[in-house]
Amino acid sequence: MESKYLATSKSDAGGPSPVKFSIKRKFDALGNSPVLEKKPHVVPQIKQKIAPILLTSKRTSIEQHQRSLPVFNCRQRILKELEQNDTVLIMSETGSGKTTQIPQFLLQAGYAMNGMIGITQPRRVAAITIARRVAQELSGNIGDTVGYTVRFEDATSKATKIRFLTDGVLLRESIKDRLLTKYSVIILDEAHERTVNADLLFGIVKDAQKERRKKNLGKLKVVVTSATMDIDHFGKYFNCKGMYLEGRTYPVRVMHTKEEHEDYVHTVLVTLFHIHRTTPRNHDVLIFLTGQEEIESLAQQIRQLAKMDMSGTTDLRVFTLYAQLSQGKQLECFVPTPANVRKVILATNIAETSITIPGIRCVIDCGFVKEKSFNTADGLDVLKSVRISKAQAWQRTGRAGRDADGTCYRAYTKREMDSFADATQPEILRTNPTSMVLQLLALDIDCNNFDFLDAPLEEGLRSAYKSLEALGAIKVGAVSYITPLGRQMVQYPLDPKYSKLLLTASSFGCMEEILSLVSVLSSDHVFVSNSDKNEMAALAHAKFQSKHGDHLTLLNVFNAFSKTEKPKMWCHDNYLNLRSLTYARNVRRQLTEISERLHLALNSSDDIEMLKKCILNGFFENIAVLQRDGFYMTVSGNIRAKIHPSSVLHGKYKPSYILFTEIVQTEQTFLRQVTEISIEWIQEIVPFVKNIPSR
Ligand code: ADP
Ligand code: MG
Repeated sequence: MESKYLATSKSDAGGPSPVKFSIKRKFDALGNSPVLEKKPHVVPQIKQKIAPILLTSKRTSIEQHQRSLPVFNCRQRILKELEQNDTVLIMSETGSGKTTQIPQFLLQAGYAMNGMIGITQPRRVAAITIARRVAQELSGNIGDTVGYTVRFEDATSKATKIRFLTDGVLLRESIKDRLLTKYSVIILDEAHERTVNADLLFGIVKDAQKERRKKNLGKLKVVVTSATMDIDHFGKYFNCKGMYLEGRTYPVRVMHTKEEHEDYVHTVLVTLFHIHRTTPRNHDVLIFLTGQEEIESLAQQIRQLAKMDMSGTTDLRVFTLYAQLSQGKQLECFVPTPANVRKVILATNIAETSITIPGIRCVIDCGFVKEKSFNTADGLDVLKSVRISKAQAWQRTGRAGRDADGTCYRAYTKREMDSFADATQPEILRTNPTSMVLQLLALDIDCNNFDFLDAPLEEGLRSAYKSLEALGAIKVGAVSYITPLGRQMVQYPLDPKYSKLLLTASSFGCMEEILSLVSVLSSDHVFVSNSDKNEMAALAHAKFQSKHGDHLTLLNVFNAFSKTEKPKMWCHDNYLNLRSLTYARNVRRQLTEISERLHLALNSSDDIEMLKKCILNGFFENIAVLQRDGFYMTVSGNIRAKIHPSSVLHGKYKPSYILFTEIVQTEQTFLRQVTEISIEWIQEIVPFVKNIPSR
């Protein structure tokens, strides 16, 4: 293999020219190093000191930074547009200062005198990091003038004027207050992301604006901002003009691989070390990957390789950025490294448009993204890695040209890219609409009468209505409506299945257990596995194992965690994730509060059969049956899958009937978090579930 990449360039699309570097040399230098072997599910235990978060510590530098941002020169224009119109659409390149600066402009212009300035974000990480940044720019503490509210966490106070919140949180607020009376301005940020929640908010905010005008309740100004946006589509919907703010970007040289490569993680790794050998150390690298496990495993490999590299260990520092990461860790990647140390950030698509890290000169794009999508026939959401769209590829490329000329290495060929879709499909067209239908019905809105930017597919809606009716959340008819149970369900910020589980748990006598279980399921990756110590980790984890399956195993972990007096040490000794378990404890506290408000009996039981029946009662749509060939078949949708290797039920003994929490699709399809059940229980607890083959 001589040269792996072909270059094409943004400005010079006319004919690719080969890049002169030899991957072969790289491999030779590494030899048959065992660290090049793929080692999935590795979570590194490297401790790094949390350095100060500020990009610059002095006030003047902050002002300089603000002035250098493209939106700074458009301040007057934005304010004038908003004065003359109720809704303004703003489009500009990522990193121009939309999210951090516009709320400050509005604050200074007096928009927060009668109500807050709310800024919605599709992701909680972005809401938190950006709120912190803006608080710093305004020399304040988080929770004072600037605050944030994300699911299960509220960092705002009476003094808060600028409030960052996830679109899910604002949507839930709208159930209680349809006119959004707390707000004078709502900025619907990252509109191009088109999450289901954002799509619903578009309609709700538009309606609130109209109603407030009618009732003379004080204007609601709306700013819709986006990095790439179909201005016409949004313009027609909001009945307003779009504003395009000229950004500042530098040329980015684009390279594609010459050949198709199956193992993109490997391609990424080799490319990184090529960059490391051939470019100055102050050129930081941003790598786009699909998810936490992949990121942590590659981070580990890079750190090990860097140690072996002749050039020493101190010239490359690896950072990771993904949704489940703790706040401290997320902010670490903003801290500049010394000029002779290269910063390498491994991120999910969160770094595509939501979060901009300064100093990036090289981007490596794996070409995939993890996406939820669902099959209308079965109603199940599946999380899988899919090809990014062309628009996403260009967004990723753009990250290399924020501060100076850059290079983007695409771990896919030009031909492969030609087959990518032009733009990502809005989430509303590809995910299960069950939660959405319920939330709208809680607002007394029937989907059929809602002003959608893009209406979800009929078939999906039909299956959502059916599934909600089976859960007892709604009554379907000429006019469908939400039942009292459904109204209780929307009190929990959870998927309807989980809410149902909580609402019925006291009648099974196991509310305390279900509260713990749902909390720990809401948190991610409780078990830590470390490549060097896999056996020890497995040994430590074994004592929590329940033969009934993963749900009871997780419950054992959580119960033991709740009892320990030294959680940090205990988690370390047991190879458990302290942050995930602490998060779960926090979630549990909040779910308990809601349950108390709903006057549910907080009873407890050690009857495992009852507990499993209770889980079945909420998760009846997630039953799978063992087939002759050792695969499982899901009852809704007939998906063939195996039990995930991380499950305690993975192995020789295969129960005939199982419940699962999640379907994960990589090269294979897996059922994650499974529990054994029996056919008799299905007949007893959820007799309406048909087509279960007896064995
Ligand atoms: P946009 O919303 O237009 O994409 P942002 O307002 O998010 O842009 O970012 C503007 C600038 O602020 C970017 O150049 C980014 O690097 C910088 N920035 C944002 N957050 C931080 C942070 N936490 N620390 C340092 N710099 C930051
Ligand atoms: Mg932004």
